Amino acid sequence: MAAEPLAYLDHAATTPMRPAATAAMLPFLTEHFGNPSGSHAAARRARRAIDDARDTLAEALGCQPDEVVFTGGGTEADNTAIAGVLARRPGVAVCSAVEHHAVLHPVQAAGGSTVPVDRFGVIDLDALAQVLAELGPDGVSVVSVMLANNEVGTVQPLAEVAAVVRREAAGAVLHTDAVQGFLWLDVAAVARAASPDLVSISAHKFGGPQGVGALVVRAGTPLAPLLIGGGQERDRRSGTQNVAGIVGMAAAAREVVDARAALVARVGALRDRLVDGLRAAVPGTSETVDPARKVAGSAHVCFHGVESEALLFLLDQAGLCATAASSCASGALDPSHVLAAMGVPRSQATGSLRLSLGWSSTTADVDRALEIVPAAIGRLRRSAA
Ligand code: PLP
Repeated sequence: MAAEPLAYLDHAATTPMRPAATAAMLPFLTEHFGNPSGSHAAARRARRAIDDARDTLAEALGCQPDEVVFTGGGTEADNTAIAGVLARRPGVAVCSAVEHHAVLHPVQAAGGSTVPVDRFGVIDLDALAQVLAELGPDGVSVVSVMLANNEVGTVQPLAEVAAVVRREAAGAVLHTDAVQGFLWLDVAAVARAASPDLVSISAHKFGGPQGVGALVVRAGTPLAPLLIGGGQERDRRSGTQNVAGIVGMAAAAREVVDARAALVARVGALRDRLVDGLRAAVPGTSETVDPARKVAGSAHVCFHGVESEALLFLLDQAGLCATAASSCASGALDPSHVLAAMGVPRSQATGSLRLSLGWSSTTADVDRALEIVPAAIGRLRRSAA
């Protein structure tokens, strides 16, 4: 008998490639291998491909093509945003307490400030205003607030954040990490409403390949490059571009934009079926953030009296790919910085489970999870009794 296929509910970690992205990449992994910086026909072919990809991404992100800088993924885009602005504009870096480590660590390394969030993970706008006011109009270099959180899915009120930043720290650069937001939210509309100076995305979170991303850099934004050398990407990111990856990312972005509304409706319904099913089958289940405040693919729950690590082991054995918001450090469970910032009690945080859905998720995935998770929790609870 054939083994059951894996039920993959870890789209926030990475997504399967969309067939359209794979197909678009293949010629650039085979016959079109030119270096886009060259001047002969093969080089021109590669350069045309990245120019077309730049146009596609500019439209998807609501910016000009020459404001798109291709990077080696979301981490590089985020690091460039923080370190690159700090190098050119004096002042303190400020970010929300629930940022991905790709933002949080460079902010902390530079001695920056973090702004608290409420129990849903939404940034406290009054606290942001206070932090910025204390630093003074010229004391802030860069403010970074993500569009959607990678752990619990919370969407931030970016237009309101932008209004506070423009009022309290008019010259500061505003960055948003849209790595988890792009699949679900119209980033071009966000760009119109909030006018962020810098926006990060990463292809593998929306059906493109791993190791490629982009940073939108609005004209006039003070930004030093992280990588210097050949001067590619108009001196904003040296290094030969990942042509196939960029082409794949653009193909995936095109599908996202064309089908986003339908995806949000379909996957949002699957997510609700999953969480409602878990609540019905597993006593002591709590949903960390209510669906109205988060992206459609996010199902973050906590199970009372269960340890995530033991649960994940059983889920993996049963063929369910998921993750938890707790990490294991020297044998102890550490609640994530996100749950800690939200004030989720440690007793609850240790039983957390992140199930994240995406473009390829099906009812069958959800129904398998609804068999596997309650069975695993039943086993853990029986063994603990
Ligand atoms: N920012 C957020 C919100 C993320 O979720 C991730 C990846 O998990 C990153 C940045 C880093 O992106 P990459 O894996 O492309 O380096």
